Formats: sequence, C-alpha cells, structure tokens
Amino acid sequence: MNETSPITDLKGVGEKTARLFERIGVTNIGELLHYFPRGYEKFGEIQPISTVKEGETVVVYGRFQKPLSVQRIRKLQITSGIFSDESGSLRITWFNMPYLRNTLKAGAFYVLRGRMTKKKQLVLEQPAVFSLDDYRKIQGHFRPVYPLTEGLSGKTVEKAVRQALDHVVLSKEFLPIDIRKQYHLAEYNFALEQIHFPDDQEQMMQARHRLVFDEFYLFILALRQLKKEKEKQRQHFGIEKSERMDQIISNLDFSLTGAQKKVWAEIEEDLTGEFLMSRLIQGDVGSGKTILAFLALFLIAENGWQGCLMVPTEVLAVQHFESLQTLMQKQHLPWKTELLTGSMTAREKREAYRRIREGEADIVIGTHAVFQEKVEYKNLALVITDEQHRFGVRQREALSEKGQMPHVMVMSATPIPRTLAVILYGDLDISVVNELPANRLPIKNCVVDTSYRPRAYHFIERQIKEGHQAYIICPMVEESERMEAEDVITYTQNLRQVFPSEIRVEYLHGKMKPSEKNEIMERFLHGEIDVLVSTTVIEVGVNVPNATVMMVENAERFGLAQLHQLRGRVGRGTAQSYCIMCYGKDSRKTKERLEILNQSNDGFYIAGEDLRLRGPGDLFGIRQSGILAFRIGDVFQDAGVLQEANDAVNTTISDKEYPDGEKYQILSGTLRHYMHKDLYNLNL
Ligand code: ADP
Ligand code: MG
Repeated sequence: MNETSPITDLKGVGEKTARLFERIGVTNIGELLHYFPRGYEKFGEIQPISTVKEGETVVVYGRFQKPLSVQRIRKLQITSGIFSDESGSLRITWFNMPYLRNTLKAGAFYVLRGRMTKKKQLVLEQPAVFSLDDYRKIQGHFRPVYPLTEGLSGKTVEKAVRQALDHVVLSKEFLPIDIRKQYHLAEYNFALEQIHFPDDQEQMMQARHRLVFDEFYLFILALRQLKKEKEKQRQHFGIEKSERMDQIISNLDFSLTGAQKKVWAEIEEDLTGEFLMSRLIQGDVGSGKTILAFLALFLIAENGWQGCLMVPTEVLAVQHFESLQTLMQKQHLPWKTELLTGSMTAREKREAYRRIREGEADIVIGTHAVFQEKVEYKNLALVITDEQHRFGVRQREALSEKGQMPHVMVMSATPIPRTLAVILYGDLDISVVNELPANRLPIKNCVVDTSYRPRAYHFIERQIKEGHQAYIICPMVEESERMEAEDVITYTQNLRQVFPSEIRVEYLHGKMKPSEKNEIMERFLHGEIDVLVSTTVIEVGVNVPNATVMMVENAERFGLAQLHQLRGRVGRGTAQSYCIMCYGKDSRKTKERLEILNQSNDGFYIAGEDLRLRGPGDLFGIRQSGILAFRIGDVFQDAGVLQEANDAVNTTISDKEYPDGEKYQILSGTLRHYMHKDLYNLNL
C-alpha cells in the first residue's frame, strides 16, 4: 500500500464507507492522510466537581447516588442524574440515549468528560463515559477531531488514518535539506503522523508549521510554473476603444469614483492591448466592482465578441443579470444577454446554448453552468469571475478550453494586504478599487447581547415603516439539540409572532432548492419581503440597496472578515444603514473582537486585528469564512509562513544546481493531493 492506493485497500473500508469518504474528497490513502483534523480533544486531568465552570470541558470522577431517570420532552428523550464526588455534585444529561439508564449503575464509579453548560443551573451535557482504567490510558493524549459528513463518524476516520499511518509506505521527504534547515521544518513523515496524533502541543505545532509551509510552498511553485507558461500571450481579438463607452459612463445614474475610473482605464488598456489580460480587481465590499465588469463586457460586445460573467451562486447570477438588463434598457444598448443557471429547464438551456453557439448572445451571465460541456461559444473573448474565491481551478480551466484563450478578469472582495496578494496572485496583475462611492454614509454599528432584542425589533419595525428592509442572519438552518444557536426556521416563526402581521418575514438558507432561493431573493429585491431571515448564503455579492439593517444573531460564531462581508450587504444606497451584532454567549473576548467591527469599516484592518486578537495559539479557531481556503494554512494567521515559503520558492527556482526540468517536478506525482482540487482559485 502506498499513498496512491485506493482507500478500499484499508481493512474495514468497504464500498459503502468509501462513498462516504468520497463526499469529503478522500478517494486514496494520500488524500486520507492529508485530511487534517480541524482540532483536537485533549483528555485532561480529573478535577473536583466543586471546581467546574460554565463553558469548560471538564473531566470528573464520581458516582450516581440514584439510578438515572428518563424523561420525554416533545421529540427529545432526556436521560439525567445527579453525579457526585467528595467535593460536590452535578447534574448530568444526555439526549436520546435512554439505554444509558440500564448501562450506568448507581453506586459504581465512572469518569465523565464533557462540556459544562448553563441552563437553569450548571449542567454537564452529553458527557463521554469511561472506566477509571480506560481513562488513565488515554489521559494526556490529544485525539483528532475531523470535519465530517453525515453517516461518517469521527471514529471511522480516525481508525482509517491510524491504519494508514501504520501500514503505508509514505512518500519520501521532498523538500531540499537546506530549505528544511533554514526554515526549521520538521520532517514530512513525522509531520503527517503528528498532525493526526500529536504527542503533545509542541509537536502538533511543529507538524502544523511544516504542513502549512508545504501547502504554501507547493502552491506558490505551481503559480510560478503557470506564470512561466503563460507569460505574455499575444491576443488576436483586435479590440478597440470606443466612444460609446464614454457615453455609457456619462449616462450612468452616478459618476464613477476616482478609483473606479483608474481601474477602468487599466482594464481598457488590457483589453485593447497587445497581450491577453490576466487581472485581479480587488476592492472592499461596496466599492462598486460590478459596474467595472459590466463596462468590460460592453466593450467586448461593442467589438463584436462574446464575454461571460461567472458568479458563485444562482441568486447572484439572477441579480447581476437583472441589473445588467435594467442598465441596458435605460441606455438603449443593443446587445443581447443570456442567463445560464443550473435550475433552468432542459428546454430553456437548449435554447440558450443555441443562442450562445450561434453568436446571438453577446453577454452570458451565470453560475458554473456557463462552462458545462454542452456550452459552446461562437467567439468568446473575455471571462470574468466575481467573488472568485468560490471557484475551482478546473472550472476555469474548462472555460479557457472553449475556443481560444480569452482575457481573464477576476473580482474579489478578499481583504488581504497587497504584499500577500502579490504572492498569492503571482500570475495576475492587480488593480485595487480603494475608494467607496462618495454618497455613502458610514454604517452605524452596535454590539449587544440578547436582552437588547426587543429594542432591535422595535428599531427594525420603524425602519420598515420608513420603507426600508432588513436582514437578520442566524448561524443555523434548523433547530439542533446539540447546538445553542439561533436557527433560521424557528427564528422566522418567532419573528412573525413579534412583528405586526403587515410586516412580511421570510427565510432563506442554503438547503432550499435554487428555484425557491431565487424566488425569495427576487421578492426581497422587489420590496415584497420586509425582513429576510437568512444563513450566510447572502454573504457574497447580494445587492439590495434599499435594505438598511443587518442584524446578526450569535455574532460570536462568525469570523470578523465574514461579519464584515455580511455587513457589506447594507449601506449600499444613500440612506443611513445599521448593523446590529448580537452575541449569544457573553464573554470579554467576544465583545473585544466584535468591537473591532464597531471601530472600523476597513476590511484589511479588520482581518488583521482579528488575527492579532486571536493570537498565535488559536490555530484551529474561527476561520475567515471561505476566503482563500487552503487546507491547513490560513493566509492571515500564517502570513509569516507564506512569506517564508515565497522566499524558499525563489531559492529553489534560482538554484543553479537544480536542473530546470526538476524544479517543478515536486509538483507532479503523489504530492498533488496537497493541491486541494477545487479550492485553489487560480487558473492552474
Ligand atoms: P461590490 O464592490 O461589493 O461588488 P457593487 O458593485 O455591488 O459593490 O456596488 C454596490 C452599490 O453601489 C450598487 O448598488 C452600485 O450600483 C452602487 N455604485 C457603484 N458605483 C457607484 C458610484 N460611483 N457611485 C454611487 N453608487 C455606486
Ligand atoms: Mg460584488
């Protein structure tokens, strides 16, 4: 067995389990070993019951004085009892595990490990149960906690990984020894073992450091190779500037900001220049990137070519399509636009494909449906992706293969400093839209606890009476017995009771059918819904300028960069907008973090401060949502390592003793599975 062997070579992994593994992107052993834990459980010291505190994971040793009782509350079966040691006693509950009443005997001693939560009193919820002997064996160890999918248990993954580590012939160390020495990097096989089953915190950190370095190093190396291959390709589209563009710009409802003008000039130069465009347009939420995309598409259409705009969600596709239509109608522009999404009927799609193939469509807007195999373009000259971090490598590749290589423009609101952007987007030129439209009032923020809700609702009601709309974000879709967090469905029901009946409350979440989502968004956009309760599906790109309130429930559960994106959904028009961040769990740290959002509206600053506050110890804490999703590295947190990896790549490439052909060989073979297939956003 080696890293390329199929996962079914492992004992106990049959077809059925293999299918579950496939869902998390694991088909062979190498991928399994690079499926990293998202955190660890530590089996700590046993402590006296009198010292347990709310919110902590605790380990206690004692016994139940009386047999456990089972109670039924609605759909839940709650098993509970009082557990005591010499120092005190504690209430214990389990959900839907009634059989424990027969297995746990009154009077016998057990070790319980779990989290203390506060209901009416302090309760130890859902603890794991051990005998003292068993617990002593694992005490002091870290146990990996893996991200999972339904049907696949942490135990199954853990067992498979352990077996793989014991039996697989791992790849050889691939980094040159000089680099390892210079950057103090642990050995590859050691790192793989320790990331899953660390001996202690120290080893875990070392393992992680090495793997983060690998990930960045290989990524940057791949990028350089790409740049080498793609360097300055000539374009043959013969696109020319047009006065019509200036007319369009002067007839807009607003005048472009200085930054927009500057970036538009850069785009125009690229499109009409000698070489193919590869440009990243970076700009904070609300800086007005969409109009730049539209202008680029117009210039292409004006020159008789086709252009397409690809976005990560259908909701966004429909929205862009509509605002493009509106703009074109207002200005009587002659071009034909086509919407292409997954939820269109087969017949609609066929029709659309025909129009694209025959060149009837000048501008195509859609989700990844725009590059389905069946789509053929007559003369595609420009591909734009919006909020590109949601796009995969192969998707873009597939699109470039439809005809001659088109111009590529990428738009992103990812708040990363320029020094990092230069490394991460090494193959792209970068333009920054570093100015918000002048008519914007800064968003007013407040950070509050749940007792503030009645006032918040009252406030929202008043905003609605003034003709505005509001978003309320909840972290979850449905009620869960395990998690104490607000969910969209229950919240909506409650809110309908709270508000007078003329206020229309609807919900939106990722598990709804695309057509349902579209319908809700459409109605919200047209003012037929007043309050939209939603998960973070609206995080990217949604533009409803009439919405003036963004309320986020359980704000403590979101990364600050993500909250900043969410907040960016309001403050898009001329009216004063508000962001209410409501935290469910009160802690000084939470407040301090959220206060950063209160102080600043600058995405770069916020991401940096979040990082500083979390500190280097919080390795597996809240991630900055979907931005630049590396497998283990975090662009913000590991910015230093990213820089080092970049230096190391420079060393590798300029190394005279390393034959040119071999420099990039590191990238081939089994190490490819570092390159998380669909995460990397560049057109590799
Ligand atoms: P983002 O950069 O987040 O994609 P959008 O392109 O969606 O931002 O723009 C946000 C809002 O600002 C839209 O309603 C858009 O019409 C408007 N807008 C864009 N540019 C300007 C401008 N120069 N002046 C006023 N409003 C603008
Ligand atoms: Mg946008």
